[in-house]
Amino acid sequence: MTSAVIAPLGVDSPARGLECRGCGARFPLAAQHACYECFGPLEVWYDADSLAKVTRAQIEAGPQNIWRYAGLLPVGQQAADRVSLNPGLTPLVRADALAAEIGLRAPLWVKDDSANPTHSFKDRVVSVALTAAKALGFTRYACASTGNLANSVAAHAARAGVPSIVFIPHDLEPGKIITTAVYGGDLVAIEGSYDDVNRLCSELVETDEFEDTAFVNVNVRPFYAEGSKTLGYEVAEQLGWRIPAQVVIPMASGELLTKIDKAFEELVSAGLAVAPEGGWKVFGAQSLGCNPIATALHAGTDVITPVKPTGIAKSLNIGDPAAGLYALEAVRRTGGWMDYASDDEIRDAIRLLARTTGVFAETAGGVTTAVTAKLVASGKLDPDLETVVFNTGEGLKTLDAVAELVGPTYRVKPSLKAAREAGLLG
Ligand SMILES: *Cc1c(COP(=O)(O)O)cnc(C)c1O
Ligand SMILES: [Zn+2]
Repeated sequence: MTSAVIAPLGVDSPARGLECRGCGARFPLAAQHACYECFGPLEVWYDADSLAKVTRAQIEAGPQNIWRYAGLLPVGQQAADRVSLNPGLTPLVRADALAAEIGLRAPLWVKDDSANPTHSFKDRVVSVALTAAKALGFTRYACASTGNLANSVAAHAARAGVPSIVFIPHDLEPGKIITTAVYGGDLVAIEGSYDDVNRLCSELVETDEFEDTAFVNVNVRPFYAEGSKTLGYEVAEQLGWRIPAQVVIPMASGELLTKIDKAFEELVSAGLAVAPEGGWKVFGAQSLGCNPIATALHAGTDVITPVKPTGIAKSLNIGDPAAGLYALEAVRRTGGWMDYASDDEIRDAIRLLARTTGVFAETAGGVTTAVTAKLVASGKLDPDLETVVFNTGEGLKTLDAVAELVGPTYRVKPSLKAAREAGLLG
């Protein structure tokens, strides 16, 4: 099974193979995630002429979900081939009140990916990864997850009627465990960190017993990663086919950040979107409890020292980030920056975002909002350039983060007299 090649990948696919991010070696489109030459990570490579044939009109006439960008994705050109909850086209919310509070003068937008079917951006990557998994003939779906990925894989497998087995660290938030377990697949809680879970999955995938199993972020990871590009495509389309000047992106493995940058590059080279004057700048956000990529940037090094994650932003708690090096590269190349936020800053930022935009984010959204404010305060974000902040998950899944900080403003007996006494009438 692991030697299967997607054949034919679909006559309409613009993808031509997998390419090593380290040494550039090329391989067929198959379930392979590391280079046989240098063990570097693999990425899908495309035929530039095929990408250039995609038009805005084609995209705009497409479905109201990520598959409108199928011409820019490796798989899923035919609707019948997709394994998908049809995520995407989530709201791009204009955030004037938030901008005013943190000191931005140019337009600020929140891309709210909590509006996806399982309430995080992971539905995008899972839809693309499982569509590839189906084409490759896998008959069971799996992942190593910090929470949202498990949720999305379990839901997609349920919809497709395919068995699933997802692996999580045992100490995740109840809101992530329940919303995964409810779909009825196997849920394996590992007594260790995410990095332990990921290592175990890398070993399981090599066993005969797991030969039939696609781990969305292990053996079909190159396809998984491509799904993140749709967040970049959507923002550009929603802005009238313009790339924003500054974007602030949460980082776990760092993959999402690199793929939003890649999406912008593709749109501009294919003539689909217009780059801002001076190019776009990519900014990365982590938490104080897990900041290995930001720490390397601040130290001016390419050496990412793995950490043992702590803190409430569990969905971002990857201590040994697989795409960290490439996230550093994208941020340096575009002239952006990275920073990190403490648990208290994350809690405050969740409430700030909710109060000023009506968007209730999970802890990862708190991280990104808090870091955006810090980057404005430190002068790294230009207050006069249009900025997009990515909220990647839903506050209802991490209620504990703010449960003790919010509650009823008044508690009053049901009478006018009591209401008056409580001060409700002024
Ligand atoms: C997985 C995840 C991310 C970031 O993922 P990368 O590994 O950096 O691609 C961001 N936000 C949320 C809520 C996530 O679940
Ligand atoms: Zn290589």
